[in-house]
Amino acid sequence: MPSVHIIGGGVAGYTLARELVQKNYTGTISISDSQGLPYDRPPLSKSLQVEPFAPIAWYVEHGISLFQEDVQELALPTTEDDWIVLATGTTPTLLQVPGAQYAHTLHTAADATALAQVLDSAMFGVQVIVIGAGLIGAEFASTASMFGAQVTLISNSNAPLAPVLGQQLAEQLHADHAQRGIKTITGTVNSIGADHVVVDGERLEAALIVSAIGVEPETTLASNLGLSVEDGIVVDAQQRSISHRQVLAIGDAARVQGEPRAVHWEAAMEDAAQAAATIMDAAPVQRSVPWFWTDRHEMHVETVGEFSKVATTITRENRRGKLQTVFGLDEHGTLVAASMVDGGLMAKAVKRLIARGITPSIEQLEDPSVGPRVLGRDAR
Ligand SMILES: Cc1cc2nc3c(=O)[nH]c(=O)nc-3n(C[C@H](O)[C@H](O)[C@H](O)COP(=O)(O)OP(=O)(O)OC[C@H]3O[C@@H](n4cnc5c(N)ncnc54)[C@H](O)[C@@H]3O)c2cc1C
Repeated sequence: MPSVHIIGGGVAGYTLARELVQKNYTGTISISDSQGLPYDRPPLSKSLQVEPFAPIAWYVEHGISLFQEDVQELALPTTEDDWIVLATGTTPTLLQVPGAQYAHTLHTAADATALAQVLDSAMFGVQVIVIGAGLIGAEFASTASMFGAQVTLISNSNAPLAPVLGQQLAEQLHADHAQRGIKTITGTVNSIGADHVVVDGERLEAALIVSAIGVEPETTLASNLGLSVEDGIVVDAQQRSISHRQVLAIGDAARVQGEPRAVHWEAAMEDAAQAAATIMDAAPVQRSVPWFWTDRHEMHVETVGEFSKVATTITRENRRGKLQTVFGLDEHGTLVAASMVDGGLMAKAVKRLIARGITPSIEQLEDPSVGPRVLGRDAR
């Protein structure tokens, strides 16, 4: 009987299983994950909640076997009917300073549950230090302050998410923390203790310390299997490992050869859809323009396209004089990226424009009265 064995039950692994079910795959499907029932990661930092993708009954109904196990070795497939899919995601980057073990991370359901317990049982106004103001650190800082904590956010930059949001919006969002009572410090962590962090020589007291300084692809199993690994498990456009045709890699752990590694939720889902197409010998999946979101302080922030390609930006402000949308043009004046605050329709519009290669005029981009439905309508 043909088989697909998926290692990793994050959004990539789960989506692949769901796609195979929807496409009436007739072989056996199994998912191994060291953490058990597959769940989604974005809610962990936004609400400290654990949200499984589906109840156990769904897996039973569709004949999917779930194994709670940490897979370190595997026999590689020997026939064209059998597939191994590595969807092993990422692991948090660990701080390299004395006392780093005193800092919690926020990457798993267990991490979120432990942090929620500490915040729930702590006194109102408990001191929390968050090290790293990227997507996860900034979201957790916002969540912890909603739990009533006194939060200090330490970053080595004044615009921590500039490479993905664009400089202006990244600066504004970072500065916005102050209005919510979060203290931001730009500096370098020297050391950590059980109840303090030393930043640029200054000792800051804390009852809870969380480190969120980035993630790295989890490739231990791929390396054990002798697969090509270089900033991720190296795959072709069909998600096949370049080392073995019957091994696929998807999601944050995978990197298409010759391209940068994508580390976002939607990209992981598209990898999974492509893996299902490869397994079922179906037409390749049409990739969409990159998109991701982050939520903090009741603001929904979205980025479309790639700010790494941006040469100039055009901004729009809201009625209170705050940046609402930043459009990014490349060196040829082509629209290649945009970031927006609470601008869901605009995000969709820009996605469409970038996909079709349409760049609205500068006047249109600047004019807040030109809404997402008409933006770019006259442009070619
Ligand atoms: C706290 C948090 C908040 C986030 N918020 C956002 C957001 O707002 N927007 C956004 O676009 N993205 C966000 N992301 C990123 C997004 O969640 C990831 O891009 C996505 O989860 C990647 O999915 P994945 O399936 O590739 O990997 P993961 O979700 O990391 O899942 C990998 C799974 O593999 C398992 N595994 C690994 N190795 C083994 C092994 N050897 N044996 C068995 N099991 C193994 C792990 O236990 C894990 O469950 C966030 C991530 C985190 C951690």
